[in-house]
Amino acid sequence: MKIINSITDLRTELFNINSTIGFVPTMGALHNGHLSLIDKSKSENELTICSIFVNKEQFNNSEDFNKYPINTDVDIKLLEKNGCDILFLPTSDEIYSEKPIIKFDFGHLETTMEGAFRPGHFSGVALIVSKLFNIVNPNKAYFGQKDFQQLAIIKQLVKDLSFNIDIVSCPTIREQNGLAMSSRNLRLSKSEQGEAALIYKSLEMTKDLLIKKPISEIKSELKNIFNNSNIDLEYLEIVDSNTLISINEYNIENETTICIAAHLGNVRLIDNINV
Ligand code: AMP
Repeated sequence: MKIINSITDLRTELFNINSTIGFVPTMGALHNGHLSLIDKSKSENELTICSIFVNKEQFNNSEDFNKYPINTDVDIKLLEKNGCDILFLPTSDEIYSEKPIIKFDFGHLETTMEGAFRPGHFSGVALIVSKLFNIVNPNKAYFGQKDFQQLAIIKQLVKDLSFNIDIVSCPTIREQNGLAMSSRNLRLSKSEQGEAALIYKSLEMTKDLLIKKPISEIKSELKNIFNNSNIDLEYLEIVDSNTLISINEYNIENETTICIAAHLGNVRLIDNINV
């Protein structure tokens, strides 16, 4: 695997390449969720490029940024073992040689959930994804359904800016107890990792209840369950999967997604399931 740190070197490397390129952008501290994206890219492209860059612009909370796990040596070994061809590993100065001015506004797609609770987050995500797309110029880019709202925002970004890139959506990979794999899980103790399984359990519970009870009742029942745990529920939203608009009544005909954000200690976790 080639490890490339500068934008110019990566552009030079890719200049004469005619292969199809699959791209997997990440913030590192890699786990099997990330590796499933690499596998998918390898199965669909001649060349797979992964990037590792912890993008300060998308963090609205400096503690979250400062404590974001960094595991570069292990990440490099994992990528090599999984057959990644190129790792793009830039510094912050390489990507942001000057403080960026541009801001993105995704309208109704970011007035709820992550957009509402993390102001500026999706503007930062759209900025780094646009920059990386312009640098790598892949045929396909791979994103996890774990970050459901991010995926909707990126699909919109690609449409609105006419990027000639297929966005491939990949299923959420989970621990045996159902906890969605996340780099932030590294900040949880073993017992907290056990407790955090409640997040997935409550998504499943909500899914079962949707055909039985009104949404308002389900939400208050679920709030009570979290109140009796160590997990602090930030939101439980049941939304139309396409518009991301919160629904008050379930309609079996419409694709629906149940989304949760919650804090365990000082670690913020998100998860969702599709109904
Ligand atoms: P991150 O490093 O957290 O920015 O994630 C990089 C990519 O991996 C994003 O497209 C995520 O949605 C995806 N990802 C993160 N966790 C998982 C998971 N458990 N299963 C599948 N994809 C994931």
